[in-house]
Amino acid sequence: MLTAICGINWGDEGKGKMVDLLSQDQNVVCRYQGGNNAGHTVVNERGKFILNLLPSGILRENVVNVLGCGMVIDIKHLTEEAARLREKGVKITPENLKISDRAVITMPYHVLMDCLEEDRLAGKKFGSTRRGIAPVYSDKYMKKAFRMGELLHPDRLFERVREIVEWKNLTVEKGYGHAPISVDETIAYLKEYGEIWKDYICDTGLYLDRMHKEGKKIMFEAQLGALKDIDFGIYPYTSSSSTIAAYAPIGAGVPNLKLDRTIGIMKAYSSCVGEGPFTAEYFGEKADILREAGGEYGAATGRPRRVGPFDAVASAYGVRCQGADEVVLTKLDILSVYDTIEICTAYELDGKIIRDFPYPDALNRCKPVFESFKGWKCDISKCRKKEELPQEALDYIAFIEKACACKISYVAVGAERDAVIKF
Ligand code: GDP
Repeated sequence: MLTAICGINWGDEGKGKMVDLLSQDQNVVCRYQGGNNAGHTVVNERGKFILNLLPSGILRENVVNVLGCGMVIDIKHLTEEAARLREKGVKITPENLKISDRAVITMPYHVLMDCLEEDRLAGKKFGSTRRGIAPVYSDKYMKKAFRMGELLHPDRLFERVREIVEWKNLTVEKGYGHAPISVDETIAYLKEYGEIWKDYICDTGLYLDRMHKEGKKIMFEAQLGALKDIDFGIYPYTSSSSTIAAYAPIGAGVPNLKLDRTIGIMKAYSSCVGEGPFTAEYFGEKADILREAGGEYGAATGRPRRVGPFDAVASAYGVRCQGADEVVLTKLDILSVYDTIEICTAYELDGKIIRDFPYPDALNRCKPVFESFKGWKCDISKCRKKEELPQEALDYIAFIEKACACKISYVAVGAERDAVIKF
């Protein structure tokens, strides 16, 4: 049984919490794309955890976790993240964490290049998380990246270090005028972290295929959402990887397998990190109220997120891109602050009302069309059954289901593991 959990919006929809909850009967949880540029926040009985690279299943003792080949892995960050979790008593061993030999290594010079380029762009910046993600994915497709498996074959790797550092310095030193990258330091770095992680590196495709044949349950955990996908998102204000569920079997290492169930995670309002068009955006005090109510500050960077009401146009597109069989609506409790709740139900583009998500460049000319709905204005965070929700909340949910042509199977009303209502 293969299940994907993916983001319908811009990311930060609460995927981590839902993977944490839904992984209870899973055998394997696998990340299939991205790096440490986003953060999942998971709150459970063991405390509050921020995960950037490790799958949320790491918090469950009986789950094996996989970092798939579609990922880019900052091995220093991984070491620090693992240390933070181990301090809180989380077990991380080669038995419960497997790292794909085909996953690409994010090097310190990728982080450096990300920063140099953002600084060069100054006012015109993309809002990169400065974690080296775009430079390392570029190198992957240039075939000039290092992969985790190479750490197991150091002689060949160190030969490549010389070639690649020489090539990198053409840009770092001659292009940006920065001090050159050192071959010796790069080799020492790879040796140090290779030693730490060598026992975790394996062919995760072979492992996952075996697990599947044995009838085990595998869950794929996405980072970010449909609107940040490199192909289908608001390019170029996207991430550099495929956040789409259809990519999960490839990014995990099992392109031969097909998903049985795709669960999309959709937030009851909108939030977005970074630059680019964000049609339903609230500004000023209106934005502050929602941002404060929702605690909308980046888990990885602490940056204040841009916020707005639920965007039915973008979310319907997200549901379609993800091929979501069912949807979890999260953070409904946050909307309890409102007397009336707005939803962006359409865009106005060049005087015409549209409901199909347009090509990204047209978004600059789109204005949101807001409709108001009666709020419930009471605490719903203790509700655990559909019948306990106020009628206004049920109406809000029903409207979203219809507008996005999706089946909402769960509604989340709090950060805690059990703050979920099955629909
Ligand atoms: P992810 O990257 O999709 O996992 O999302 P984040 O972890 O960045 O953001 C989700 C945040 O909302 C986390 O702090 C969660 O603990 C929290 N959260 C998730 N679901 C709910 C919910 O239904 N209500 C509330 N109040 N918080 C939630």
